[in-house]
Amino acid sequence: MEATNNKIDSIKRRVPRRHKSDKFPIRAHEIMLKDAFVGADFPSRSVKWMRFGIGFFSDVVLMMKSSVHLDNHKGNDTLIKAYHRAIDSFHRYTTQHRYVSAGVSLHTIGDFYAHSNYIDLYSLYARGRKLPMDKEEIPVFSTMIDNTDFLDFAKSQGELRTGTYGLISDLIEKIFKTKPKPGSHTLMNLDSNKSINGGKPFAPGATFTKHEAGVYAAYQECRNLLQRTL
Ligand SMILES: [Zn+2]
Repeated sequence: MEATNNKIDSIKRRVPRRHKSDKFPIRAHEIMLKDAFVGADFPSRSVKWMRFGIGFFSDVVLMMKSSVHLDNHKGNDTLIKAYHRAIDSFHRYTTQHRYVSAGVSLHTIGDFYAHSNYIDLYSLYARGRKLPMDKEEIPVFSTMIDNTDFLDFAKSQGELRTGTYGLISDLIEKIFKTKPKPGSHTLMNLDSNKSINGGKPFAPGATFTKHEAGVYAAYQECRNLLQRTL
């Protein structure tokens, strides 16, 4: 255990913290999922490596990998496939005792809620159907993946998608400080309460933000995976 800690710390020291100036704090995912491990049936050494995969490894080493952070994904089918892939790979990696990679899969699950329009679409969908709007009623995507009513609704709204990131247009936006484009990561993300979209209320009159809605759903789903109920 001590050896694992030292090893992780020394890796962290060697890699520069490129995200320091960004709004999205490194290890946000790791901190968010801290409690999801409670009661999970993994040895503490494996948990350490998994948490390393969730936070530092995903956000720094795999920073530009769209398949990890789900940027630039378009369409219901594409997002469903990516979500299934994250769930399946989590199971496969834990079976193979590849815990850093299993952690990366959990990071991807979290980014689905923070980087896609799922929370926005679900808010509209629930309001239209007069469903309860409490945070605790927001479904995890694994329970909506086969819900044709919701998926048809998503289609009618332009389908599930994630924001654009790392494209030429985003680079221009950064360099020339131009207005972020609709559909960009900057405008869409729910990474924090300080992000443009994340700080907005989940629905008119809601006492919690879209960011908090996303965190709730991401936490529940990762908990399902860690507690092996999914
Ligand atoms: Zn990410």
